[in-house]
Amino acid sequence: MNFRSPFVFKSLRPAHISPENWQDWKWQMAHVLKYKDDHIKHFGKLTNDEEEAFDLHQGLFRIQTTPYYAALSDSSNPEDPIRQMLMPHKKELQNLGQQMKDPLGEERHSINERLIHRYPDRVLFLVTDMCSVYCRYCTRKRFTGKLSAFVRTSPYEKSLEYIRNNKGIREVILSGGDPLTLSTSRLEKVLQDLREIPHIEIIRIGTRMPVVCPMRVDEELVQMMKKYHPIFVMTHFNHPQELSLEAAEALTLLVNNGFPVMNQMVLLNGVNNHEALVQSLSRRLLSLRVKPYYMFHCDPSEGTEHFQTSIQNSLKIQRELWGRLSGLALPSLSLDIPGGGGKVGLTPQFELERSDSHSRFKGWDGFEASYINPFPEDVIDPFLSEEYLNEWERLKNQSYGNQNAADLGARHQNL
Ligand SMILES: *Cc1c(COP(=O)(O)O)cnc(C)c1O
Ligand code: SF4
Repeated sequence: MNFRSPFVFKSLRPAHISPENWQDWKWQMAHVLKYKDDHIKHFGKLTNDEEEAFDLHQGLFRIQTTPYYAALSDSSNPEDPIRQMLMPHKKELQNLGQQMKDPLGEERHSINERLIHRYPDRVLFLVTDMCSVYCRYCTRKRFTGKLSAFVRTSPYEKSLEYIRNNKGIREVILSGGDPLTLSTSRLEKVLQDLREIPHIEIIRIGTRMPVVCPMRVDEELVQMMKKYHPIFVMTHFNHPQELSLEAAEALTLLVNNGFPVMNQMVLLNGVNNHEALVQSLSRRLLSLRVKPYYMFHCDPSEGTEHFQTSIQNSLKIQRELWGRLSGLALPSLSLDIPGGGGKVGLTPQFELERSDSHSRFKGWDGFEASYINPFPEDVIDPFLSEEYLNEWERLKNQSYGNQNAADLGARHQNL
């Protein structure tokens, strides 16, 4: 694979596994680690807290990892970031702090069990609940890994019908679970069905497979997918240690075949919540032509309290990177209002004061000055043709999901 990057990406294939098996995503899926013994075999020794999690394991989120992803961790270090993302821990069972089954209030915004319409012009389509690795911090634990797999015919058809009948929907985001755990032919059927709907402009595929099973991104997959462009691929790298040779090859294959690739990371306490790590990850991704898109603050999903950072901690990371790191590499820090209020941006405070006439700023490296506003009557609208105005009116008036959600949210028990 011909990619050029100043960074070195290494493969961590264990010597006893043949390259053919290693590179075969079906082999990876057939050899996943699920049980305590599988993990002991790989990691040598588990900590007491990890063992206890396996022993108590009722109520615990599903456990599974690919051999590939396990190999990325330093197996002797319990604090290894990859290990923390894949290994169950006793702390998941402590019921403290804010714990929500459905932190994004998705059920309230659902059209049916598989379709979430939270924002006017785009829908989230949960095409499968399966993943190859179950991330311990998953925000959609209420749904993910419950083994119902590919969406049944009736909610699938109903979802398509809803999308077809709502012409204001321009974008469909395939999510889950992980859509790339579906077979190539199954996924093709979904893409075909969506492309038969003329008003769908963009398809997004949200997947962690390039991180946890990058061999899934093979020639067969990209040749199939590129028939249904424009498709954006949203990856989910959280730590520079996840950028192996295999991952770099998968990303290169995607970009070479015309898929814009964007990364959405989650800040995880004790795993990646440091500006040095975010900058390393972002620069390596950018060198592979992947745009760091969102940096999410961890949602209060059940059993994730130990992964949550404070708003102050997240904002400090964003502020440290601001201006220092290329804007191309800088992800936007974003948080979902618990209970389903939607995403909000968290931006460091640069504006010191604001009045009608001016705003005073202090920039990222300390320079202070004011921006003087023109007189209000001098701020005018540009010429707008009917076409642009109509498009905008349609977006503004587009209904979405449960429009009473805001009222429900107000009544929601909040801290
Ligand atoms: C995050 C999210 C989206 C996509 O939001 P963007 O800001 O466009 O990336 C769409 N639907 C739901 C329900 C979401 O949570
Ligand atoms: S891949 Fe995504 S949906 Fe699946 S367990 Fe991880 S965070 Fe959850």
